[in-house]
Amino acid sequence: MILHDLIKDRIIQNGPLSLADYMSDCLLHPEHGYYTTRDPLGADGDFTTAPEISQMFGELIGLCLAQAWIDQGSPASFSLAELGPGRGTLMADALRATRSVPGFHQAAQLHLIEASPPLKEAQRQALAPFAPQWHDTVETLPELPLFLIANEFFDALPIAQFVRDEDGWRERQIGLQDDALVFGLGPRTQLTTLQHRLEDTQQDDLVELCAAGVPILSNIAHRIAETGGAALIIDYGDWRSLGDTLQALCGHTPTDPLGAPGQADLTAHVDFEVLAATAKAAGCVHSRVTPQGVFLERLGITTRAQALAQALIGKRLDSHISAHRRLTHPEEMGNLFKVLGLFPTHTPPPPGLES
Ligand code: SAH
Repeated sequence: MILHDLIKDRIIQNGPLSLADYMSDCLLHPEHGYYTTRDPLGADGDFTTAPEISQMFGELIGLCLAQAWIDQGSPASFSLAELGPGRGTLMADALRATRSVPGFHQAAQLHLIEASPPLKEAQRQALAPFAPQWHDTVETLPELPLFLIANEFFDALPIAQFVRDEDGWRERQIGLQDDALVFGLGPRTQLTTLQHRLEDTQQDDLVELCAAGVPILSNIAHRIAETGGAALIIDYGDWRSLGDTLQALCGHTPTDPLGAPGQADLTAHVDFEVLAATAKAAGCVHSRVTPQGVFLERLGITTRAQALAQALIGKRLDSHISAHRRLTHPEEMGNLFKVLGLFPTHTPPPPGLES
């Protein structure tokens, strides 16, 4: 509980913490942060993601980006990039599936944006033949057409929460009660970034802001608008944030987000409207937000699932069938997860998406 004590000292010295600062410490504290200290993925970890459920996810995304690359004239050199690549599973599946796309691998330079040392090591092992280069931020990506994937990256960025007052907002903060971390509300503020939300909210409604996501998305969108490329942003969330979606997971079980700082995964739903507006302001076109299940069906996941099923029997067949269902069924990940595509004007949207 070293991080708990550090956060407590910080509150004693400086007063209550914003949720964004708390999340940032919990997830990425250089010594005690959740991502700094572990590989959290898979059955033995805290949560499982789509590429860890089935190889089909990464394969279809790889083929989708390869088609977008072909649709833009197959640029001779481009960055194939991923934000928060986890264990490198998605990218490894994408690269295997695109082996036979003429010229794609020769033109691709692999760039990974990753903050976690243990996950970087996993990526190094999974992707060694493709000589990836790692970056701390998108700012250092090369000036090349950018074909990028981000799966469950934006949900891992810190958010701030604001509770609607009569005609303003009070920020949800973290303070101390006895020795425990507790939520409270800060003083009333007026926020230009939330001015438009006064129209669709009422007193006591809660809205979330992910300030960290905006410059990242803006950087990507500027690059795509100026040098070409496409991005697929896949995450759970809705068009517009409303309500408390902060979630802590430990060993696949929901837990108290303030209970054990740095020991649980903390995430929040993504507000796709903000990401789409940021893309537009940067001169990039964006697709409509498409449910993951619809996107994968359009890319042919059922045909791929049937082909893979031919070689499977018994428990492996059962788990393959349930993986297909988990990724696509509206009651599983199919509807909760959405896909936002970014692409330049005068090019078609990446396959599976509509403008
Ligand atoms: N995309 C992977 C992993 C999702 S978990 C998958 O689908 O399996 C979130 C990923 O984002 C992890 O790799 C985590 O280390 C990384 N990450 C979280 N915050 C980050 C940040 N601020 N900068 C770079 N990487 C970050």
